[in-house]
Amino acid sequence: MAKIKADVVIQNAGELVTVASKGKPLAGKNAGHIGVIPDGALAIAGHRIIAVGTTSAVLKNVDAADAQIFDASGKTVLPGFVDCHTHLVFAGSREDELELKAQGVPYLEILKRGGGILQTVRQTRAASKGQLVENAVRTLNTMLEHGTTTIEAKSGYGLEVKTEMKILDAATQAAKRSPVEIVNTFLGAHAVPPDATADQYTKTVIEEMIPQAVGKAEYGDVFCEKDVFSVDQSRRILKAGKKVGLKTRIHADQLNRTGGAELAAEVNAVSADHLIHASTDGIRRMAQSGTVAVLLPATGLSSMLPYAQARAFIDAGVPVALGTDFNPNCWCESMPFSMALACRYLKMTAAEAIAASTINAAHSLNRADRIGSLEVGKQADAVILDAPNHQFVPYQFGVNRVQTVIKKGNVVVQKSNE
Ligand SMILES: [Zn+2]
Repeated sequence: MAKIKADVVIQNAGELVTVASKGKPLAGKNAGHIGVIPDGALAIAGHRIIAVGTTSAVLKNVDAADAQIFDASGKTVLPGFVDCHTHLVFAGSREDELELKAQGVPYLEILKRGGGILQTVRQTRAASKGQLVENAVRTLNTMLEHGTTTIEAKSGYGLEVKTEMKILDAATQAAKRSPVEIVNTFLGAHAVPPDATADQYTKTVIEEMIPQAVGKAEYGDVFCEKDVFSVDQSRRILKAGKKVGLKTRIHADQLNRTGGAELAAEVNAVSADHLIHASTDGIRRMAQSGTVAVLLPATGLSSMLPYAQARAFIDAGVPVALGTDFNPNCWCESMPFSMALACRYLKMTAAEAIAASTINAAHSLNRADRIGSLEVGKQADAVILDAPNHQFVPYQFGVNRVQTVIKKGNVVVQKSNE
C-alpha cells in the first residue's frame, strides 16, 4: 500500500505529548495521563494529523520525501494551547491600578474613583469597531507567539446593546485576521451599568441583548457574584440564553461563596469559571453534571487574591481547564505562564496543567473532537517548545520558549534560530 504523503513532519522530539484521551476530558486519577512519547514524531497532511508515534514508527508509515521537516531534538512538542477564558475585546488599559492594589486600596474604592471595569466600559463604548479589532489582533498575535491556537472571547465591556454587539462583531472580524480560532461568548451580564439596578439590567440582557447575540455568540455567560448578579438573576439569564441556543458558561464563586458552582451544575453549564470559593457540595455536583472547572491563576496573581483549590476538583473527578483570563485587570496572554502559576499556587502537576491547557480546555469549548490533542485525524495544531521535557514547561517562567507554532497544518510562528 502506498504511504500517505506528509506535508510537515516534526521528528526526534525529546518528548512529544499527545494528550490523547479517548474522547473524554482527563479527570480524577487520569488527570495527568497525557501520553508522553520519547523520541516522538508527528506527521501532517493538509490540515490534519496523519501519524503520531516514535520517530521510527512515524517515518515507516508516511512518505516524508517532500515534507517540511522540523528536527525537535531536545525539545518538547505539545498540542496548541486552548485558552478557554479571555475577555479579548476592549479599549484602553488600567496599569495605574497596579500600585493602588499593592497599597491595599479596595476594588470598590477604585471603582468609586472612576477606575475599574467602568473605566474600560467608557473607553470601549467610545472606541470604533475598527480600533477594537486592531487591539484584538495585536493581542491574538501575542497569544499565538506563546503557543495559543484557539481562544474563547467574551463580550462584557459594553453593558448596553449596541456596544455588546460591537464587541462580538469585533472578535469575529479579528479572527479573520489571525490564525487563532475564536469562540465567542456573550457576557452582557458582566457588571451592572451605573444607570440601572441589577434587576432592571437583567431584564435588558434577557429581552434586548440575548436575542441579538444569537448568531454572533456560541455561549452565554454571567458574572454570578454578591452585589452583582444573584443566583436567581444568573439563572434567568443563563436559561434565557439556553432557550435560544446559547450554551452555558458561568463566572462562579470568584469573590464570595454564592452557590455559583451549584447553579452551574443545575443548568448543566459546559464550564464554571474561577471557583475560588466553591463549596464541597458544589464541586460534587459539578462532577455529576460533567461541568468543566476553568481555573484562572493569573487573576489571583494580578488581583492579589486567593487561588482556587485545584486538588479538590481533581479529587472529586471534575475536569480542570486553565485559562489566562486576559482582560484589562489581568493583562496576561501566556498559557505557559498560567501553567507555571497553576503548578505553584493550585498545586497541579506539570502533566495536569498541560491537560488543563489543551484537551480539557477544548472540552470546555465543545471542540475536543477536533482540537486539544495530537491524534490521527485531528486538526494539526501543535507547538514546539525549547524545553527538554514537559515538566520543564511550567518549571521555567518569565521567558517564552515557544519556537514553532502550527495551526491547521500551517507554520504560523517560526523563531529564526530554528
Ligand atoms: Zn472572566
